[in-house]
Amino acid sequence: MNDLDYEDYLLNIPYPKPDVYSSLAMPVYNAVAYEFKTASDMEAAFCGKTTDHTYSRITNPTVQYFEERVKQITGAFNVTSLNSGMAAISNVFMSIAYAGSNIITSSHLFGNTYSFFVNTMKAFGVEIRFCDLTNEEDTRKNIDENTCGIFLEIITNPQMEVADLSILSAIAQEMNVPLIVDTTIISFSTFKAKNFGVDIEVISSTKYVSGGATSVGGLIIDYATFDWTKNKRLSELAKEHKNHAFNFKLRKEIHRNLGAYMDPRTAYLQTIGLETLHLRYERQSQTCFELAKRLQTLSRVELVNYTGLPDNPYYEVSCRQFGENPGAMLTFDLSSREACFQFLDNLKMIRRATNLFDNKSLAIHPASTIYGNFSQTQRDAMNISDKTIRLSVGLESVNALFEDIKQALQL
Ligand SMILES: *Cc1c(COP(=O)(O)O)cnc(C)c1O
Repeated sequence: MNDLDYEDYLLNIPYPKPDVYSSLAMPVYNAVAYEFKTASDMEAAFCGKTTDHTYSRITNPTVQYFEERVKQITGAFNVTSLNSGMAAISNVFMSIAYAGSNIITSSHLFGNTYSFFVNTMKAFGVEIRFCDLTNEEDTRKNIDENTCGIFLEIITNPQMEVADLSILSAIAQEMNVPLIVDTTIISFSTFKAKNFGVDIEVISSTKYVSGGATSVGGLIIDYATFDWTKNKRLSELAKEHKNHAFNFKLRKEIHRNLGAYMDPRTAYLQTIGLETLHLRYERQSQTCFELAKRLQTLSRVELVNYTGLPDNPYYEVSCRQFGENPGAMLTFDLSSREACFQFLDNLKMIRRATNLFDNKSLAIHPASTIYGNFSQTQRDAMNISDKTIRLSVGLESVNALFEDIKQALQL
């Protein structure tokens, strides 16, 4: 599928089975369990000999339809939908990590991902090795035979750091470690993770995909490109299932046991979200780029951080990976924490709220909110500045947004 025919393609993905009422939208199958004609049909379904649904914690027709669409857009081997982005991340690592293993990542991470790694995973004997993923040497020297994955965010939130995926995927392949990437910040209608050597993609579908902040959700997109005989925990399974061992472990054990499958009503909303994803993403990213340029002209703004700006340190790698308008999130620095609070309080159109990629524009002061429970030392290590505002750009016009920002800065 190419960019031009995103909607033509997406809007015409058929149902797996004909709908009895010829409904145009995939119905919401709010069912818990599914009935069988005979005991042997039941046995076949439960033992995986047929793909019939049995119980909605495991599979559900509405959720599966959503997964099928994402699979076709991304070209993945398999897609698993969870009930949040965090559930997607935790299900991946619960499937591949083991006591004594380590995860290679950067300290520039979404707050809960950081906490999941350093608090939750650490308690199970998994070591978290923070390194500079934009530095090849530093990345290489941290990897050893117990590394279960390299994990990164494609544009870190909110530091806006961009690692070179061609370098990281080359290291990952050479050292037999899967490359796992959180691509929440750039829509998969534009960014094709498969072409960048990503083995497993995770997404908070709460953001762009949900279609205007309708629902919380997460996706695990498995490209089946990694040889799992190289992972100590999955190597037995991989003798039989080869590159599908991760998917087998996830679908037959982990996601069932953790019980965080997507709700069918969420899948319904997010399927509709997919239909306008590309349009929204293009418009929001273009507005964000234009706003970033205009913000640079304002005297009270000390720094604008958007990787689409030619003077941004990650401009070149960002263009190569994400094109001219790299997403709808930017940050900018004012003179102080007080100036940030004053700015937020003065806003009239832009909403004071967390979340990203709602249809409405949202502004937040990350240091005092998302990172409010972290110590100053931790915030420093994560490069979270007290002077930074994060802006998620919605569907409003660029002129109206710029006017609101100017008046809030008393300019
Ligand atoms: C929001 C977010 C998450 C977590 O997703 P939830 O759906 O809120 O659980 C993970 N990674 C990134 C980059 C995010 O922005």
